[in-house]
Amino acid sequence: MADEFPFEISPMFEGERIRKDGMYAELAGPKSKGFELVRAADMDEVEDGKFTLIGPDISDMEEGSRHPLAMIYKIAGELVEADLESIVERRNHEFQNYIQGFMHLNQRDDVWMRVSKDAVAKGMTSFEAVAKAIMMLFKNELPFIEKVEAIYITDMDEIEKEIENAKAVYKSRDERTRDLHDEDVDTFYGCTLCASFAPTNVCVVTPDRISLCGAINWFDGRAAAKVDPEGPQFAIPKGDVIDAESGEYTGVNEAAKRLSSGEYDRIKLHSFFEYPHTSCGCFEVVGFYIPEVDGIGWVDRDFAGTAPNGLQFSTMAGQTGGGKQVVGFLGVGVNYFRSPKFIQSDGGWDRVVWMPKMLKDKIADSMPEDIREKIATEEDASDVDSLRNFLKGKNHPIIEKWEEEEAEEEEAPEAAAPQEGYATPQMQMPANFMPPMPAMGGGGSGGVKIILKNAKVSIDKVIIKKQD
Ligand code: SF4
Repeated sequence: MADEFPFEISPMFEGERIRKDGMYAELAGPKSKGFELVRAADMDEVEDGKFTLIGPDISDMEEGSRHPLAMIYKIAGELVEADLESIVERRNHEFQNYIQGFMHLNQRDDVWMRVSKDAVAKGMTSFEAVAKAIMMLFKNELPFIEKVEAIYITDMDEIEKEIENAKAVYKSRDERTRDLHDEDVDTFYGCTLCASFAPTNVCVVTPDRISLCGAINWFDGRAAAKVDPEGPQFAIPKGDVIDAESGEYTGVNEAAKRLSSGEYDRIKLHSFFEYPHTSCGCFEVVGFYIPEVDGIGWVDRDFAGTAPNGLQFSTMAGQTGGGKQVVGFLGVGVNYFRSPKFIQSDGGWDRVVWMPKMLKDKIADSMPEDIREKIATEEDASDVDSLRNFLKGKNHPIIEKWEEEEAEEEEAPEAAAPQEGYATPQMQMPANFMPPMPAMGGGGSGGVKIILKNAKVSIDKVIIKKQD
Protein backbone atom coordinates (compact mmCIF):
# COMPACT_ATOMS: atom_id res chain seq x y z
CA MET A 1 0.00 0.00 0.00
CA ALA A 2 2.68 2.50 0.90
CA ASP A 3 6.32 1.76 0.14
CA GLU A 4 7.66 4.14 2.75
CA PHE A 5 6.67 1.86 5.62
CA PRO A 6 8.68 -1.17 6.78
CA PHE A 7 5.47 -3.22 7.02
CA GLU A 8 2.47 -4.16 4.94
CA ILE A 9 -0.80 -2.28 5.51
CA SER A 10 -4.03 -3.95 4.51
CA PRO A 11 -7.50 -4.77 5.90
CA MET A 12 -6.60 -8.43 5.40
CA PHE A 13 -4.38 -8.28 8.51
CA GLU A 14 -7.31 -7.18 10.69
CA GLY A 15 -7.93 -10.58 12.23
CA GLU A 16 -4.24 -11.20 12.94
CA ARG A 17 -3.58 -12.32 16.51
CA ILE A 18 -0.15 -12.00 18.10
CA ARG A 19 0.27 -14.72 20.72
CA LYS A 20 2.85 -14.64 23.49
CA ASP A 21 5.32 -16.80 21.53
CA GLY A 22 5.37 -14.43 18.58
CA MET A 23 5.27 -11.23 20.59
CA TYR A 24 8.17 -8.78 20.68
CA ALA A 25 6.59 -6.24 23.03
CA GLU A 26 3.30 -5.77 24.79
CA LEU A 27 1.92 -2.24 25.04
CA ALA A 28 -0.66 -1.00 27.58
CA GLY A 29 -3.19 -3.77 28.36
CA PRO A 30 -4.51 -5.09 31.66
CA LYS A 31 -1.04 -5.36 33.25
CA SER A 32 0.09 -1.88 32.28
CA LYS A 33 -1.46 1.47 31.39
CA GLY A 34 -2.40 3.37 28.29
CA PHE A 35 -5.13 5.04 26.32
CA GLU A 36 -6.05 6.42 22.92
CA LEU A 37 -7.51 9.86 22.52
CA VAL A 38 -8.48 12.00 19.55
CA ARG A 39 -9.03 15.72 20.05
CA ALA A 40 -10.49 18.18 17.59
CA ALA A 41 -8.38 21.34 17.34
CA ASP A 42 -8.21 24.56 15.34
CA MET A 43 -6.29 24.46 12.08
CA ASP A 44 -3.46 26.58 13.46
CA GLU A 45 -3.03 24.27 16.47
CA VAL A 46 -2.12 21.22 14.40
CA GLU A 47 1.15 20.66 12.57
CA ASP A 48 0.16 18.26 9.83
CA GLY A 49 2.09 14.97 9.89
CA LYS A 50 4.11 15.84 12.99
CA PHE A 51 4.99 12.95 15.32
CA THR A 52 6.23 13.30 18.88
CA LEU A 53 7.37 10.42 21.08
CA ILE A 54 7.72 10.84 24.84
CA GLY A 55 9.56 7.85 26.29
CA PRO A 56 11.39 4.84 24.85
CA ASP A 57 10.86 3.70 21.25
CA ILE A 58 10.34 0.11 20.05
CA SER A 59 14.07 -0.15 19.35
CA ASP A 60 14.76 0.59 23.04
CA MET A 61 12.49 -2.20 24.22
CA GLU A 62 13.69 -5.68 25.08
CA GLU A 63 12.13 -8.70 23.45
CA GLY A 64 9.23 -10.00 25.56
CA SER A 65 8.91 -6.78 27.57
CA ARG A 66 5.79 -4.84 28.53
CA HIS A 67 5.39 -1.04 28.35
CA PRO A 68 2.68 1.57 28.79
CA LEU A 69 1.48 3.35 25.65
CA ALA A 70 -0.77 6.36 25.15
CA MET A 71 -1.70 7.61 21.67
CA ILE A 72 -3.02 11.13 21.24
CA TYR A 73 -4.08 12.45 17.84
CA LYS A 74 -4.99 16.07 17.19
CA ILE A 75 -7.21 16.55 14.15
CA ALA A 76 -8.34 19.69 12.32
CA GLY A 77 -10.43 20.56 9.29
CA GLU A 78 -13.33 22.72 8.27
CA LEU A 79 -15.83 19.94 9.05
CA VAL A 80 -14.03 18.61 12.12
CA GLU A 81 -16.04 18.99 15.33
CA ALA A 82 -15.75 17.50 18.81
CA ASP A 83 -18.58 15.02 18.07
CA LEU A 84 -16.31 13.32 15.55
CA GLU A 85 -13.52 12.58 18.04
CA SER A 86 -14.92 9.20 19.15
CA ILE A 87 -15.47 8.09 15.58
CA VAL A 88 -11.88 8.85 14.58
CA GLU A 89 -10.63 7.31 17.82
CA ARG A 90 -12.47 4.06 17.03
CA ARG A 91 -10.75 3.97 13.63
CA ASN A 92 -7.37 3.91 15.39
CA HIS A 93 -8.35 0.38 16.47
CA GLU A 94 -9.26 -0.60 12.92
CA PHE A 95 -6.27 1.01 11.20
CA GLN A 96 -3.65 -0.26 13.65
CA ASN A 97 -4.97 -3.73 12.95
CA TYR A 98 -4.37 -3.12 9.21
CA ILE A 99 -0.63 -3.09 10.02
CA GLN A 100 0.96 -6.49 9.66
CA GLY A 101 2.59 -7.41 12.96
CA PHE A 102 0.70 -4.87 15.08
CA MET A 103 -2.33 -5.92 17.09
CA HIS A 104 -4.76 -3.50 18.74
CA LEU A 105 -7.52 -4.62 21.12
CA ASN A 106 -10.25 -2.73 22.99
CA GLN A 107 -10.65 1.03 23.21
CA ARG A 108 -10.16 4.19 25.22
CA ASP A 109 -8.14 3.49 28.40
CA ASP A 110 -8.58 -0.27 27.96
CA VAL A 111 -6.38 -0.46 24.85
CA TRP A 112 -3.98 -3.37 24.58
CA MET A 113 -1.44 -3.66 21.79
CA ARG A 114 1.27 -6.11 20.76
CA VAL A 115 4.11 -5.86 18.26
CA SER A 116 5.26 -9.12 16.71
CA LYS A 117 8.82 -10.42 16.56
CA ASP A 118 8.52 -10.79 12.76
CA ALA A 119 7.47 -7.17 12.36
CA VAL A 120 10.47 -5.94 14.37
CA ALA A 121 12.80 -8.20 12.38
CA LYS A 122 11.43 -6.64 9.20
CA GLY A 123 12.07 -3.10 10.44
CA MET A 124 9.19 -1.99 12.69
CA THR A 125 11.59 -0.51 15.21
CA SER A 126 9.95 2.87 15.68
CA PHE A 127 6.50 4.11 16.68
CA GLU A 128 7.00 6.91 14.18
CA ALA A 129 6.28 4.60 11.25
CA VAL A 130 3.18 3.21 13.00
CA ALA A 131 1.84 6.70 13.80
CA LYS A 132 2.58 7.98 10.30
CA ALA A 133 0.74 5.03 8.75
CA ILE A 134 -2.28 5.76 10.96
CA MET A 135 -2.19 9.46 10.10
CA MET A 136 -2.05 8.57 6.40
CA LEU A 137 -5.07 6.26 6.78
CA PHE A 138 -6.99 8.85 8.76
CA LYS A 139 -6.56 11.39 5.98
CA ASN A 140 -7.25 8.91 3.16
CA GLU A 141 -10.30 7.29 4.71
CA LEU A 142 -11.78 10.25 6.60
CA PRO A 143 -11.53 13.15 4.17
CA PHE A 144 -12.94 15.65 6.66
CA ILE A 145 -9.55 15.45 8.43
CA GLU A 146 -7.34 18.05 6.77
CA LYS A 147 -4.54 18.06 9.32
CA VAL A 148 -3.44 15.47 11.87
CA GLU A 149 -0.65 15.28 14.41
CA ALA A 150 0.28 12.36 16.68
CA ILE A 151 1.83 12.21 20.14
CA TYR A 152 2.74 8.76 21.49
CA ILE A 153 3.80 8.37 25.12
CA THR A 154 5.61 5.37 26.57
CA ASP A 155 6.80 7.06 29.75
CA MET A 156 4.69 5.89 32.71
CA ASP A 157 4.92 9.16 34.67
CA GLU A 158 3.73 11.14 31.65
CA ILE A 159 0.89 8.71 31.00
CA GLU A 160 -0.26 8.94 34.59
CA LYS A 161 -0.41 12.71 34.19
CA GLU A 162 -2.36 12.55 30.91
CA ILE A 163 -4.69 9.64 31.60
CA GLU A 164 -6.88 11.62 33.99
CA ASN A 165 -7.49 14.18 31.26
CA ALA A 166 -8.40 11.39 28.84
CA LYS A 167 -10.83 9.87 31.36
CA ALA A 168 -12.45 13.27 31.88
CA VAL A 169 -12.95 13.58 28.11
CA TYR A 170 -14.54 10.09 27.88
CA LYS A 171 -16.80 10.92 30.82
CA SER A 172 -18.01 14.20 29.36
CA ARG A 173 -18.76 12.46 26.05
CA ASP A 174 -20.76 9.77 27.86
CA GLU A 175 -22.69 12.31 29.86
CA ARG A 176 -23.97 14.08 26.77
CA THR A 177 -26.63 11.43 26.15
CA ARG A 178 -27.99 11.46 29.72
CA ASP A 179 -30.90 13.78 28.96
CA LEU A 180 -31.75 12.37 25.55
CA HIS A 181 -33.81 9.19 25.20
CA ASP A 182 -34.90 6.78 22.49
CA GLU A 183 -38.38 8.30 22.37
CA ASP A 184 -36.94 11.78 21.70
CA VAL A 185 -35.39 10.93 18.32
CA ASP A 186 -36.54 9.53 14.97
CA THR A 187 -33.20 8.13 13.95
CA PHE A 188 -30.81 5.64 15.49
CA TYR A 189 -27.33 4.88 14.12
CA GLY A 190 -25.71 1.67 12.96
CA CYS A 191 -22.06 0.72 12.77
CA THR A 192 -20.42 -2.00 10.71
CA LEU A 193 -16.82 -1.61 11.85
CA CYS A 194 -16.90 -5.05 13.49
CA ALA A 195 -18.45 -6.79 10.48
CA SER A 196 -15.06 -8.10 9.35
CA PHE A 197 -14.91 -10.58 12.26
CA ALA A 198 -18.59 -10.66 13.20
CA PRO A 199 -20.40 -10.69 9.84
CA THR A 200 -23.94 -11.00 11.24
CA ASN A 201 -23.41 -8.33 13.87
CA VAL A 202 -26.05 -5.60 13.96
CA CYS A 203 -24.76 -2.73 16.04
CA VAL A 204 -27.47 -0.22 16.84
CA VAL A 205 -26.60 2.89 18.81
CA THR A 206 -29.45 4.85 20.39
CA PRO A 207 -29.58 7.63 22.98
CA ASP A 208 -30.35 4.99 25.63
CA ARG A 209 -27.94 2.35 24.34
CA ILE A 210 -24.27 3.13 23.79
CA SER A 211 -22.34 0.82 21.45
CA LEU A 212 -21.04 -2.46 22.86
CA CYS A 213 -17.47 -1.28 22.52
CA GLY A 214 -18.41 1.75 24.62
CA ALA A 215 -16.72 4.05 22.12
CA ILE A 216 -19.65 5.35 20.10
CA ASN A 217 -22.73 7.09 21.45
CA TRP A 218 -25.74 8.46 19.58
CA PHE A 219 -24.14 11.88 19.05
CA ASP A 220 -20.99 10.27 17.65
CA GLY A 221 -23.06 8.15 15.26
CA ARG A 222 -24.96 11.21 14.11
CA ALA A 223 -21.79 13.25 13.51
CA ALA A 224 -20.15 10.41 11.57
CA ALA A 225 -23.21 9.74 9.42
CA LYS A 226 -23.42 13.45 8.63
CA VAL A 227 -19.88 13.79 7.31
CA ASP A 228 -19.76 10.38 5.62
CA PRO A 229 -23.24 8.86 5.10
CA GLU A 230 -21.76 5.99 3.08
CA GLY A 231 -19.23 5.20 5.80
CA PRO A 232 -19.33 2.55 8.54
CA GLN A 233 -21.66 4.63 10.71
CA PHE A 234 -25.05 5.36 9.16
CA ALA A 235 -28.58 6.41 10.01
CA ILE A 236 -31.22 3.81 10.89
CA PRO A 237 -34.69 5.37 10.71
CA LYS A 238 -36.45 4.25 13.87
CA GLY A 239 -39.75 3.44 12.16
CA ASP A 240 -42.77 2.49 14.25
CA VAL A 241 -42.65 1.41 17.86
CA ILE A 242 -43.57 -2.26 18.19
CA ASP A 243 -42.86 -2.40 21.91
CA ALA A 244 -41.36 0.53 23.80
CA GLU A 245 -40.58 -1.51 26.95
CA SER A 246 -38.28 -3.98 25.23
CA GLY A 247 -37.16 -1.44 22.61
CA GLU A 248 -38.47 -3.05 19.45
CA TYR A 249 -38.85 -0.84 16.38
CA THR A 250 -39.73 -1.62 12.77
CA GLY A 251 -36.72 0.33 11.49
CA VAL A 252 -34.31 -1.63 13.69
CA ASN A 253 -35.82 -4.95 12.63
CA GLU A 254 -35.46 -3.99 8.96
CA ALA A 255 -31.85 -2.97 9.56
CA ALA A 256 -31.23 -6.24 11.43
CA LYS A 257 -32.42 -8.26 8.46
CA ARG A 258 -30.32 -6.26 6.01
CA LEU A 259 -27.12 -6.11 8.08
CA SER A 260 -27.18 -9.75 9.19
CA SER A 261 -27.98 -10.93 5.64
CA GLY A 262 -31.27 -12.36 6.84
CA GLU A 263 -29.89 -14.20 9.89
CA TYR A 264 -31.87 -12.02 12.30
CA ASP A 265 -35.02 -10.04 11.72
CA ARG A 266 -35.88 -8.92 15.24
CA ILE A 267 -33.85 -7.06 17.83
CA LYS A 268 -35.15 -5.82 21.13
CA LEU A 269 -32.75 -3.16 22.27
CA HIS A 270 -33.48 -3.41 25.97
CA SER A 271 -34.07 -7.11 26.32
CA PHE A 272 -31.69 -9.70 27.71
CA PHE A 273 -33.57 -12.89 26.86
CA GLU A 274 -35.81 -12.28 23.89
CA TYR A 275 -34.28 -11.25 20.57
CA PRO A 276 -31.37 -9.56 22.33
CA HIS A 277 -28.93 -7.24 20.59
CA THR A 278 -26.19 -9.19 18.80
CA SER A 279 -22.74 -9.31 20.42
CA CYS A 280 -19.71 -8.76 18.19
CA GLY A 281 -16.75 -9.36 20.49
CA CYS A 282 -15.71 -5.78 21.31
CA PHE A 283 -18.13 -5.52 24.23
CA GLU A 284 -16.73 -4.08 27.43
CA VAL A 285 -18.90 -6.27 29.67
CA VAL A 286 -20.67 -9.59 29.17
CA GLY A 287 -23.90 -10.44 30.95
CA PHE A 288 -24.65 -14.08 31.80
CA TYR A 289 -27.80 -15.75 33.01
CA ILE A 290 -27.44 -17.77 36.23
CA PRO A 291 -30.32 -20.25 36.15
CA GLU A 292 -29.74 -21.44 39.73
CA VAL A 293 -30.86 -18.05 41.02
CA ASP A 294 -32.79 -16.87 37.97
CA GLY A 295 -30.63 -13.74 37.93
CA ILE A 296 -28.13 -12.06 35.66
CA GLY A 297 -24.44 -11.56 36.40
CA TRP A 298 -22.07 -9.19 34.57
CA VAL A 299 -18.32 -9.49 34.16
CA ASP A 300 -15.94 -7.03 32.53
CA ARG A 301 -12.62 -7.44 30.79
CA ASP A 302 -10.63 -6.22 33.77
CA PHE A 303 -11.85 -8.99 36.05
CA ALA A 304 -9.35 -11.82 35.92
CA GLY A 305 -11.17 -14.07 38.36
CA THR A 306 -13.99 -16.55 37.96
CA ALA A 307 -17.66 -15.61 38.04
CA PRO A 308 -20.09 -17.65 40.20
CA ASN A 309 -20.93 -19.82 37.17
CA GLY A 310 -17.33 -21.07 37.21
CA LEU A 311 -16.32 -19.17 34.07
CA GLN A 312 -13.93 -16.34 33.31
CA PHE A 313 -14.64 -13.33 31.10
CA SER A 314 -12.62 -14.76 28.21
CA THR A 315 -14.60 -18.02 28.15
CA MET A 316 -17.93 -16.28 28.21
CA ALA A 317 -16.76 -13.70 25.67
CA GLY A 318 -15.81 -16.55 23.33
CA GLN A 319 -19.27 -18.03 23.71
CA THR A 320 -21.04 -14.68 23.26
CA GLY A 321 -19.11 -12.98 20.44
CA GLY A 322 -19.13 -13.39 16.68
CA GLY A 323 -22.17 -11.24 15.90
CA LYS A 324 -24.78 -13.66 17.21
CA GLN A 325 -27.93 -13.30 19.26
CA VAL A 326 -27.00 -15.60 22.11
CA VAL A 327 -29.83 -16.02 24.58
CA GLY A 328 -28.43 -16.18 28.09
CA PHE A 329 -25.44 -13.95 27.29
CA LEU A 330 -25.25 -10.30 26.24
CA GLY A 331 -22.34 -8.01 25.43
CA VAL A 332 -22.76 -4.35 26.42
CA GLY A 333 -20.78 -1.14 26.84
CA VAL A 334 -20.19 0.00 30.45
CA ASN A 335 -22.28 3.08 29.88
CA TYR A 336 -25.38 0.98 29.17
CA PHE A 337 -25.56 0.40 32.94
CA ARG A 338 -26.31 4.12 33.20
CA SER A 339 -29.24 3.89 30.80
CA PRO A 340 -32.69 4.31 32.33
CA LYS A 341 -33.77 1.52 29.96
CA PHE A 342 -31.08 -0.95 31.05
CA ILE A 343 -32.53 -4.44 30.26
CA GLN A 344 -35.85 -3.03 31.35
CA SER A 345 -37.97 -5.72 29.74
CA ASP A 346 -36.27 -8.36 31.90
CA GLY A 347 -36.52 -6.61 35.23
CA GLY A 348 -33.68 -4.08 34.89
CA TRP A 349 -31.56 -3.77 38.02
CA ASP A 350 -33.88 -6.06 39.98
CA ARG A 351 -32.57 -8.94 37.87
CA VAL A 352 -28.88 -8.17 38.47
CA VAL A 353 -27.34 -10.42 41.11
CA TRP A 354 -23.56 -10.33 40.70
CA MET A 355 -20.71 -8.25 39.25
CA PRO A 356 -17.00 -7.75 40.02
CA LYS A 357 -16.35 -5.19 42.75
CA MET A 358 -14.34 -2.88 40.51
CA LEU A 359 -17.13 -2.72 37.95
CA LYS A 360 -19.73 -2.22 40.66
CA ASP A 361 -17.74 0.64 42.18
CA LYS A 362 -17.32 2.24 38.76
CA ILE A 363 -21.06 2.44 38.14
CA ALA A 364 -22.31 2.59 41.74
CA ASP A 365 -23.56 6.15 41.32
CA SER A 366 -25.88 5.01 38.50
CA MET A 367 -27.41 2.07 40.39
CA PRO A 368 -30.73 2.48 42.15
CA GLU A 369 -29.83 3.01 45.78
CA ASP A 370 -32.09 0.26 47.13
CA ILE A 371 -30.39 -2.45 45.05
CA ARG A 372 -26.75 -1.42 45.43
CA GLU A 373 -25.99 -3.45 48.55
CA LYS A 374 -28.01 -6.41 47.34
CA ILE A 375 -25.82 -7.15 44.34
CA ALA A 376 -23.01 -9.53 45.22
CA THR A 377 -19.38 -9.19 44.16
CA GLU A 378 -16.52 -11.68 44.23
CA GLU A 379 -16.04 -10.68 47.87
CA ASP A 380 -19.55 -11.91 48.72
CA ALA A 381 -20.07 -14.90 46.45
CA SER A 382 -17.71 -17.09 44.46
CA ASP A 383 -20.16 -19.82 43.43
CA VAL A 384 -23.89 -20.25 43.05
CA ASP A 385 -24.41 -21.59 46.56
CA SER A 386 -22.77 -18.62 48.24
CA LEU A 387 -24.55 -16.32 45.78
CA ARG A 388 -27.92 -17.82 46.67
CA ASN A 389 -27.20 -17.39 50.37
CA PHE A 390 -26.06 -13.80 49.86
CA LEU A 391 -29.20 -12.90 47.90
CA LYS A 392 -31.39 -14.47 50.55
CA GLY A 393 -29.53 -12.67 53.33
CA LYS A 394 -29.93 -9.33 51.57
CA ASN A 395 -33.55 -9.96 50.59
CA HIS A 396 -32.72 -9.26 46.95
CA PRO A 397 -35.87 -8.61 44.83
CA ILE A 398 -35.09 -11.78 42.82
CA ILE A 399 -36.31 -13.75 45.85
CA GLU A 400 -39.86 -12.64 45.05
CA LYS A 401 -39.50 -14.35 41.70
CA TRP A 402 -38.32 -17.52 43.41
CA GLU A 403 -41.38 -17.44 45.63
CA GLU A 404 -43.72 -16.85 42.69
CA GLU A 405 -42.14 -19.72 40.80
CA GLU A 406 -42.35 -21.95 43.87
CA ALA A 407 -46.06 -21.16 44.20
CA GLU A 408 -46.58 -21.90 40.50
CA GLU A 409 -44.83 -25.22 40.94
CA GLU A 410 -47.06 -26.14 43.85
CA GLU A 411 -50.14 -25.35 41.78
CA ALA A 412 -48.96 -27.45 38.84
CA PRO A 413 -49.80 -31.09 39.69
CA GLU A 414 -48.11 -32.44 36.56
CA ALA A 415 -44.80 -30.97 37.60
CA ALA A 416 -42.18 -33.46 38.60
CA ALA A 417 -41.53 -33.82 42.31
CA PRO A 418 -38.48 -31.96 43.59
CA GLN A 419 -35.35 -33.96 44.17
CA GLU A 420 -34.79 -35.10 47.70
CA GLY A 421 -33.05 -32.54 49.81
CA TYR A 422 -33.56 -29.83 47.24
CA ALA A 423 -34.43 -26.62 49.00
CA THR A 424 -34.08 -24.05 46.23
CA PRO A 425 -36.95 -22.81 44.07
CA GLN A 426 -36.96 -24.18 40.54
CA MET A 427 -36.25 -21.61 37.87
CA GLN A 428 -37.71 -21.51 34.41
CA MET A 429 -35.09 -20.83 31.81
CA PRO A 430 -35.93 -19.24 28.49
CA ALA A 431 -36.51 -22.04 25.99
CA ASN A 432 -33.59 -21.00 23.82
CA PHE A 433 -31.15 -20.39 26.68
CA MET A 434 -27.62 -21.53 25.93
CA PRO A 435 -26.37 -22.98 29.20
CA PRO A 436 -22.82 -21.94 30.06
CA MET A 437 -20.30 -24.76 30.12
CA PRO A 438 -19.06 -25.34 33.65
CA ALA A 439 -15.35 -25.04 34.24
CA MET A 440 -13.48 -28.32 34.07
CA GLY A 441 -13.50 -29.99 37.40
CA GLY A 442 -15.70 -27.29 38.84
CA GLY A 443 -18.53 -29.66 39.65
CA GLY A 444 -22.18 -28.77 39.69
CA SER A 445 -23.96 -27.10 42.48
CA GLY A 446 -26.69 -29.76 42.18
CA GLY A 447 -30.41 -29.65 42.50
CA VAL A 448 -31.53 -27.49 39.59
CA LYS A 449 -34.57 -28.66 37.70
CA ILE A 450 -34.73 -27.46 34.12
CA ILE A 451 -38.17 -26.83 32.63
CA LEU A 452 -38.01 -26.34 28.88
CA LYS A 453 -41.12 -24.83 27.38
CA ASN A 454 -41.78 -24.89 23.63
CA ALA A 455 -38.31 -26.29 23.12
CA LYS A 456 -37.37 -28.62 20.30
CA VAL A 457 -34.73 -31.07 21.43
CA SER A 458 -32.86 -33.31 19.04
CA ILE A 459 -30.22 -35.80 20.14
CA ASP A 460 -27.96 -37.55 17.65
CA LYS A 461 -26.53 -40.12 19.98
CA VAL A 462 -26.96 -41.20 23.63
CA ILE A 463 -24.08 -43.07 25.25
CA ILE A 464 -24.88 -44.85 28.50
CA LYS A 465 -21.85 -45.91 30.52
CA LYS A 466 -21.78 -47.89 33.70
CA GLN A 467 -20.33 -45.82 36.52
CA ASP A 468 -17.86 -47.66 38.74
S1 SF4 B 1 -18.90 -2.53 18.69
FE1 SF4 B 1 -20.39 -1.65 17.28
S2 SF4 B 1 -20.07 0.56 17.42
FE2 SF4 B 1 -18.25 -0.41 18.28
S3 SF4 B 1 -16.85 -0.55 16.53
FE3 SF4 B 1 -17.96 -2.50 16.65
S4 SF4 B 1 -19.67 -2.27 15.23
FE4 SF4 B 1 -18.89 -0.21 15.68
